[in-house]
Amino acid sequence: MSVTVSLSPMKRIRSMNTSSNRATRRRMPVGRIAAASVAAGAVVAAAAGASHSVSSEQPDLQAAGHTAAAAAPVSAPVALEDPAAKAARDAELVARDHERLAREADALRPKVVIPVIGPVSSLFGARWGEFHAGMDFADPIGTPIAAVTDGTIIEAGPAQGFGLWVRVQQDDGTIGVFGHVNDILATVGQHVRAGDIIATVGNRGQSTGPHLHYEVWAVDGQKIDPLPWLISRGLHPNTAMAS
Ligand SMILES: [Zn+2]
Repeated sequence: MSVTVSLSPMKRIRSMNTSSNRATRRRMPVGRIAAASVAAGAVVAAAAGASHSVSSEQPDLQAAGHTAAAAAPVSAPVALEDPAAKAARDAELVARDHERLAREADALRPKVVIPVIGPVSSLFGARWGEFHAGMDFADPIGTPIAAVTDGTIIEAGPAQGFGLWVRVQQDDGTIGVFGHVNDILATVGQHVRAGDIIATVGNRGQSTGPHLHYEVWAVDGQKIDPLPWLISRGLHPNTAMAS
């Protein structure tokens, strides 16, 4: 292998790219240029985790305004930021931005929703000689049912009279009961947010047609009227057709 042959193209490139440092390079034998490059590389590697720069070793190149690329064969890079540290800092900035956006989105999202799209067909109270302990919403089978508030699924399965039900521990300590559902789309222990689909409307159990039966149980277990509870939270279900 010939050193002269292998380094000649590099020398030509240097001659085209740089001019002010020619004198320095001329004084430096080819072998020393190679050695200097290796040495500079070693210093760069050693300085990768350190804060100080080795650029002071080439003050003439700095003064002449050389770019790092042009001076690469004989000088150390000017900017010595550890790529791993930069990547970690960038990742932290991105993560912080994601957290901020998530907080803003959370502040804007509804904290309480009406569980289904359909109109109220039956209200809480005495009905047909019995006591109707919830509100009915008329909807076709398969209509999505949303969690009314944030909460936790505490029961999801068969229930006497309801066929299938889902019960949710709601954000104010009450329990929301969703009865006669056709499909259960949530699992016990699952945390849900207001609007998350937890079931679909069905006609199971003691039901006279497809609808959602929704109850609200107070903390003491008492079944309370869901309508004023919903209204107090800013919701106004369509009761025009209710009986
Ligand atoms: Zn009902």
